[in-house]
Amino acid sequence: MNSSRLARRLDGIPPTVFSEMSALAARTGAINLGQGFPDVDGPPSVIASAVAALQSGANQYAPGIGVPALRQAIARHQQRHYGLELDPDREVVVTTGCTEGIAAALLGLIDPGDEVVVLEPYYDSYLAMIEMCGAVRRPVTLRAPEFRLDADALRAAVGPRTRAILLNSPHNPTGTVLTRAELQAVADVAIERDLVVITDEVYEHLVFDSHEHVPLATLPGMWERTLTLSSAGKSYSFTGWKVGWATGPASLVGAVLAAKQWLTFTSGSPLQPAVAHALDHEPDWPTALARSLQDRRDLLVAGLADAGLVARVPEGTYFATTDISHLGWEDGRSFCLALPERAGVVAIPNQAFYDDQDAGRHMVRWAFCKEPDLIAEGVRRLAAADLTR
Ligand code: GLN
Repeated sequence: MNSSRLARRLDGIPPTVFSEMSALAARTGAINLGQGFPDVDGPPSVIASAVAALQSGANQYAPGIGVPALRQAIARHQQRHYGLELDPDREVVVTTGCTEGIAAALLGLIDPGDEVVVLEPYYDSYLAMIEMCGAVRRPVTLRAPEFRLDADALRAAVGPRTRAILLNSPHNPTGTVLTRAELQAVADVAIERDLVVITDEVYEHLVFDSHEHVPLATLPGMWERTLTLSSAGKSYSFTGWKVGWATGPASLVGAVLAAKQWLTFTSGSPLQPAVAHALDHEPDWPTALARSLQDRRDLLVAGLADAGLVARVPEGTYFATTDISHLGWEDGRSFCLALPERAGVVAIPNQAFYDDQDAGRHMVRWAFCKEPDLIAEGVRRLAAADLTR
């Protein structure tokens, strides 16, 4: 397209690196350890439920807020896991993946000129949507090698124009799971400064070892100011279904719905009862997924080490990050662009997720939501290749 025709609100927002790197993998035939999508689908009973819904007439518009069965199942899920009591008619809205949830939350809650405090590295759609809202991001860097939240930096990032904090835990791409103490630091600032927190918890069930995911909404005083986002894509390995949800007090959920009605209007009808089935009838599936991911994490981290790449062992998500500065490349992007030819592997350069390029320039992310054989072959190729510039 003639780039001069592009609206200013999109000018300067680069194309999503995930699509770029998946296209690179497709073009070169490299093993795709880049974009985070599993290569095995979620539970067969959930697919059967979607097929049944398709064949039994669930093919016209669903209610904008989502079908009652799914909203009720989401409310039960929040109760069962976190002890949160939700009104499924006012405190739950179904979205077209968490990505639409992020978009609708920001469009519904943020005015032009507002500031949004966001963890860095940030997921790329946060940056794009904050820009499209005409708002300003204030990043708080999770610094290598431990990628912990610096409470003082968080506090310093909040100013008079701050409207919201956009949180993500378990955190993509670092694999950090915020501890209760870190979350309390977020809660303290949010309460003191009367801020809304939008918290992306799509990896809520994908945590390892003894780490525990604590929803921010469960902290004292936080329910009324927290909008929580999640999805079936990550918990049930149906990333292509694009079924997500936002939960929280009616005022925040209402703001999401107010924007969502003009974005997608409603989300896919036949997939909603199927996701309700998943939440109600396959409650242990995400835990089993996390157990198998933990083994695959260990396989990847050990294999990366054999290739001379030291990863911080992720506490959650399905990503591991390495610092490649010792290999002599100008940045992670040039490394990742050369990697298919060098090693037949694709990874994600995290620098696209940083304002602070000194912190992010050489960070590279590897996905382990792939079958063990594929991970093993990927790291074997890395170990056999010359990865230096
Ligand atoms: N969440 C996935 C990842 O981080 C990608 C989703 C996307 O490409 N929008 O890799």
